[in-house]
Amino acid sequence: MMKRYFQPEIETASRDRILEIQNEKIVRQVRHVYDNVAYYRNLMDQKGVRPEDIHGVQDIHLLPFLSKADLREAYPYGLLGTDLKNCVRIQSTSGTTGRRVVAFYTQADIDLWEDCCARAIVAAGGTEEDVCQVCYGYGLFTGGAGLNGGSHKVGCLTLPMSSGNTERQIQFMMDLKATILCCTPSYAAYIGESLEERGFKPEDNHLKAGIFGAEPWTEEMRQSIEKSLGIKAYDIYGLTETSGPGVAFECEEQKGMHINEDHFYVEIIDPETGEVLPDGEKGELVFTSLDKEAFPLLRYRTRDICVLNRTPCSCGRTHVRMSKPMGRSDDMLIIRGVNVFPSQIETVLLKEGYTPNYQIVVDRERHTDTFDIYVEFRPDQFTDLMSEIQRMEKSLEGAMRTMLGIGPKVHLVAPRSITRSEGKAVRVVDRRKLHD
Ligand code: ADP
Ligand code: ZN
Repeated sequence: MMKRYFQPEIETASRDRILEIQNEKIVRQVRHVYDNVAYYRNLMDQKGVRPEDIHGVQDIHLLPFLSKADLREAYPYGLLGTDLKNCVRIQSTSGTTGRRVVAFYTQADIDLWEDCCARAIVAAGGTEEDVCQVCYGYGLFTGGAGLNGGSHKVGCLTLPMSSGNTERQIQFMMDLKATILCCTPSYAAYIGESLEERGFKPEDNHLKAGIFGAEPWTEEMRQSIEKSLGIKAYDIYGLTETSGPGVAFECEEQKGMHINEDHFYVEIIDPETGEVLPDGEKGELVFTSLDKEAFPLLRYRTRDICVLNRTPCSCGRTHVRMSKPMGRSDDMLIIRGVNVFPSQIETVLLKEGYTPNYQIVVDRERHTDTFDIYVEFRPDQFTDLMSEIQRMEKSLEGAMRTMLGIGPKVHLVAPRSITRSEGKAVRVVDRRKLHD
């Protein structure tokens, strides 16, 4: 019998019950933060908000925001909510966008984080019968630790592979009959490609599901991974500041990720004005952790842009769903005044039958932005006929222009010539920054 939920009483609780839980927790949490985190107490004092002004989640909008800049300013201990002696772990961001942030955990914080990851694994069909191969990085990065803990809680046989050494990943995946794969989507695509190169067909592996996250990926990328590995691919979202992966996860519907609202209160705001937006509008995700003891961030601005959906889900879970973040506000490139997200480029490439291996190079020449995209041929498309290459490049440039509203120069390059990523992929080289 397949377990559908890890914590059914919470995952399928009525909306009234969820609100009740949140209201109770927020009052306690604001008091905890005010009493223990001087940095945030100052922000509240500056704004003239007192803990007794917060009677429930309807009052959260009164609280000040926290941003990555605050985390950097308060580094390392400034946002700690408890004595260091009560903390048992630190984790740190991958540093994709600047200086790393350090987050602290008590044992209770780790427990709730692992519960969230266990919910994600069960939602992807995981049970104690499964063999769960975790190839997110272990160590400071939250991916490995979070899914490892979640996998234990579900009772899967856990393969703590960490990232890299693709040869060994494949050997263990085959020999130990892994059924669930956890890694970044770009690494999943690479594993799929490597299996194919070794002559394996999608049905030769024992995988049934993948839990992929930590970086933006498109629906087209999902389909491509599902096909190459012969699995169902589930999205998982999180960030170090709020624990790590597992803040939200996909169910079998695969239409948005359920946010673990008993632990994280979510808002969507206008990134320019900070105004809270109504459901269904696109904006920046803001999280308030309702339970965390050691690193209790209130109204943390993620810079991730997405939309919330509160319509009921056929899986029975009642928690709100977030759309795939289309990338962070700071992943967005502004090229000749036009906003470009790398995810749009990925969509075009996969629609046009290319692999998701690409690199964007932006530079500035004589005060004008240059915009180049390097794209690999699929091995079966490879040709050295100049006229054919030019025709393919022109056709891809046209498709990009239609999608982006701005035309890049496309360069087709040999299969496998773009460096593969074992963790988060690096898609953008912005050389303009060197001139500033
Ligand atoms: P860093 O900020 O250094 O990358 P983290 O490792 O904590 O640090 O990464 C968290 C960020 O990763 C999120 O804010 C988000 O931008 C991105 N991310 C995580 N999961 C997903 C996902 N499923 N889809 C899109 N982006 C994601
Ligand atoms: Zn669902």
